[in-house]
Amino acid sequence: MHRRSFLAGAGALWLPSMARAQAPLAAEPFGLGVASGHPSATGIVLWTRLLAEDPSAPLTGAIAVRWTIAEDEALQKVVRSGEAIADARWAHSLHVEVEGLQPNRPYWYRFVAQGKASPIGRTRTAPDPRERVPALRFALASCQQYEQGYFSAQRHMAAEELNAVLFVGDYIYDISWGRELVRHHDGGRPTMLYEFRNRYALYKSDRDLQAAHAAHPWIVTWDDHEVTDDYTGDISPADSDPVRFLAQRAAAYQAFWEHMPLPNAMQPRGPSLGLYGRYRFGDLAELHVLDDRQYRSHHACRATLTRGKLLTDCDERLDPARTMLGAEQEAWFGDGMRRASARWNLVVQQTLMAEADRGQDGQHSYWADGWDGYPAARRRLLDAVAASPVRDTLVLGGDVHSFWAADLERDKAIVATEFIGGSITSQGPAEARVKALLSRNPHLRYGRTGVNGYGLVTLDPRSAQIAFRTVHSVKEKNSPIDTLARFAVEPGRPGVQRA
Ligand code: FE
Ligand code: CA
Repeated sequence: MHRRSFLAGAGALWLPSMARAQAPLAAEPFGLGVASGHPSATGIVLWTRLLAEDPSAPLTGAIAVRWTIAEDEALQKVVRSGEAIADARWAHSLHVEVEGLQPNRPYWYRFVAQGKASPIGRTRTAPDPRERVPALRFALASCQQYEQGYFSAQRHMAAEELNAVLFVGDYIYDISWGRELVRHHDGGRPTMLYEFRNRYALYKSDRDLQAAHAAHPWIVTWDDHEVTDDYTGDISPADSDPVRFLAQRAAAYQAFWEHMPLPNAMQPRGPSLGLYGRYRFGDLAELHVLDDRQYRSHHACRATLTRGKLLTDCDERLDPARTMLGAEQEAWFGDGMRRASARWNLVVQQTLMAEADRGQDGQHSYWADGWDGYPAARRRLLDAVAASPVRDTLVLGGDVHSFWAADLERDKAIVATEFIGGSITSQGPAEARVKALLSRNPHLRYGRTGVNGYGLVTLDPRSAQIAFRTVHSVKEKNSPIDTLARFAVEPGRPGVQRA
């Protein structure tokens, strides 16, 4: 056990490595901010990571950190407090699992290490599963390439009234790319643990991102750039040696866990990290958060791939053995859909699920890395959605750096409604491509590129609404925000409606 948290007065700590000499903490040891996440009705995970005075000489050994969570912003009405151990094994990150909280209410928290206090973060528990909840609100965000823009959208997200932020991947980028960069990565493509840690530290040094973490609990999944562009399971397009790539995946997964408000049960074991999970928000919503990267089959029809991404159709694409979630997660998802009982099912995942045929002149052409590369797996997922006693399912995603609203069809019948919440900064596809997709795929009801921001999902018993929120420009700091478009879904009637 590398870190433990104790309730106040729970007794003496046994700390085998505490006696060792320690490098000095930074003047601002909480310079990466604080965060919370993985909310339940009675618990929350509190996160931070200690920084060393000299970034080139990482902290060593174990450091005790005091944590406090209270009912008020001034931390006067303390409900739990304790001591947790930040250890070098996990980059002196902390994942404090607080339990025994009241459902559906805000809390404030803070850490103190060697007399230095962190900023105060705010968080919120989920409503009790039996509670009748009048309304819920989530932000849907993804894809924040650091070089391509400032994170103003995160600053605006911090100011929204939310139950949680849903971040669906590309939290960091392994690669440098894009036009008109406003700032730069401080290293090349990471493959080693210390390089991934440095990349997270760079991203998390951003004050706007810190503000969004300090304002709301986050529920997270990942996409590809947390490891390497377009990887599939244990195969990387950038490294043909699977043993070396799995070592890189292990490093990337470890750094991801170290920097996210995830529970200790999700601590990675080598190149494996069990990230998918369910979150219940009263009687109104159940979130089914998927991991479609770690277990998926390799890209189909590699011989026909254009620029490694686009495939003309081939038999292998349709192979029913191809999987996006892996057998275990797929069974788990089907089970969750069968037993679902909240008003709304939310499938929170990485990428566009609706078919997006890019073919011309009677030919079919698909993006190999999205659900279109795995149509049998998508069909099985939609079968499970259609079989759920909960008739109203929203699929929420990211990855494509543009805003989309789509009807998800199975045998020509709409079974769910999909929304893609744009990208925080990452640049999107050309406008002509989006227009072509819209004209060839009538179930894609709306698509917009060239703008950045997030989605704001509001649920109540009578409707689901989404607003696409976009900043004026990611190239300017403190860019203002507007609502680009609004859509709604009525219960019992899946499909996109203009609102
Ligand atoms: Fe992305
Ligand atoms: Ca991606």
